[in-house]
Amino acid sequence: MNNSFIDKAVIFCEQNKHRLTLPRLNVLKIIHSSAKPIKAYDILKKLSIIIRNPHPPTAYRAIEFWKRHKFIHRIESLNAYCTCKSDHLHSGGQFLICNDCGTVIESHLCNFPEVFKNAIKKKMFTLSNWNLEINGTCKKCS
Ligand SMILES: [Zn+2]
Ligand SMILES: [Zn+2]
Repeated sequence: MNNSFIDKAVIFCEQNKHRLTLPRLNVLKIIHSSAKPIKAYDILKKLSIIIRNPHPPTAYRAIEFWKRHKFIHRIESLNAYCTCKSDHLHSGGQFLICNDCGTVIESHLCNFPEVFKNAIKKKMFTLSNWNLEINGTCKKCS
């Protein structure tokens, strides 16, 4: 497990005066140690091994906290969470999802589609974030 990601989160909380509560820290560690995107229910299950009887709202608020601060992404089609594999401050993401093994690769290789860029330039639309999910087969499974 690469701890620099957790270190980054610790520093982020210190610098921005966010309280790094035990549920917050553990929720992030659980998501980070999961090889594949993990559902909120499973995060809670794992959290209950570390913390006795964690309150589900506490766990869900911790998930929301890391999502809001872009340390984790929600993969909408899987209803699951994964840590950001890139600079956590980007506002949108592209995810390649393997239909066979469920691996998700965060990709920043494709550009934001030109047609949307133009719409934003013409102020037809104000962009906050985006989430592009692409399904297929990963290298290992193909
Ligand atoms: Zn990311
Ligand atoms: Zn696969």
